[in-house]
Amino acid sequence: MRPPVGSLLVRDIGLLVTNCPELGSGSLGVMRDVDLVVENGTVAWIGGARTSPAADEVLDAAGRCVVPGFVDSHTHLVFAGDRVEEFTARMAGKRYDAGGISATVAATRSAPSSVLMEMAARLKREAEAQGTTTLETKSGYGLTVSDESRCLEVAGTIAEEVTYLGAHVVAPEFRGREQEYVALVTGPMLEACAPKAQWCDVFCENGAFGPDAAREILQAGRAHGLGLRVHANQLSHGPGVQLAVEMGAASADHCSHLDGADVDALAGSDTVATLLPGAEFSTRSPYPDARRLLDSGAAVALATDCNPGTSYTTSMPFVIALSVREMHMTPDEALLAATAGGARALRRDDLGALAPGFRGDLVVLDAPSAAHLAYRPGVDLVAAVVRAGRLLGRGVTR
Ligand SMILES: [Zn+2]
Repeated sequence: MRPPVGSLLVRDIGLLVTNCPELGSGSLGVMRDVDLVVENGTVAWIGGARTSPAADEVLDAAGRCVVPGFVDSHTHLVFAGDRVEEFTARMAGKRYDAGGISATVAATRSAPSSVLMEMAARLKREAEAQGTTTLETKSGYGLTVSDESRCLEVAGTIAEEVTYLGAHVVAPEFRGREQEYVALVTGPMLEACAPKAQWCDVFCENGAFGPDAAREILQAGRAHGLGLRVHANQLSHGPGVQLAVEMGAASADHCSHLDGADVDALAGSDTVATLLPGAEFSTRSPYPDARRLLDSGAAVALATDCNPGTSYTTSMPFVIALSVREMHMTPDEALLAATAGGARALRRDDLGALAPGFRGDLVVLDAPSAAHLAYRPGVDLVAAVVRAGRLLGRGVTR
């Protein structure tokens, strides 16, 4: 990211979602008829319309709604090829069992890094155009030392949060020799990858890694200074969520099959439950019980899980609409989970809110309120996107 310079005034904001209840009304801290100034990348001032200090650039919100930029805390954007035939077959009734990942592994291994870079950059632009201002992305389709390593290099060019997922599935050539693959993932592969990532992740699931192997992988990641995340309880009930909490992971992702003990463990921990309803949508599977998690007091994030197999969408507005319609989240809860929730899942205290001191990441919606994101599904309501005070792509300044 280029270093932020100068100042930007966003004027005539009809409704500003700050995510800080102390600044405005309701759980989202909503303010009406305000201007906002970002200085050197950081929100510096919010106040009554037309009373703001001077700024280098002006973005006219024209009375519309402004929300914090979306924080997509779970994506897989580094891969080659697609799996549209698998999707089409699944929609015709074939069940998904995690086997399709090897198709993407083969395509990714044989693709030059320049192709991976081009595809990842295209997906990043797509996400930004829909209001995403922070991306996490992972390796996990290389599964050799050199392929995981170059996938993380590509990831680092498009995402500010990068996750090592050598433990996505056991590499095809290690089938039946899981322990040998775990030794590779926690040994030479980790040595090569840890300097290129902030996070270590493991897919803890039948058909991927059991709890003992997953714990070993997370412990090795932590010993190399990486924060922890877990793909947990996606396809069936399993030990992933309990393991994530036990290990102090920042996030347990998917959480589609939870029992009462899992919900209690999440509610009593700092581990965020990151829900990825795009995966349930695209695999026609039962959605996570978001209501139960929210009512228990667990911290909830929403992310796209963008990947070519089970959720090929970069759209956080789509995920918000799904969460409201299919998971019974209120529009306010969904917006909070897609912004502040994602920030928390990445342990970032500078993102996910619009208040002095937070990074100047915001979206101008072509709508009078954020509820329109769910109320008008499939409609592009993103009028302008600003990251660190810099206008991305759309919008008009003078
Ligand atoms: Zn994932």
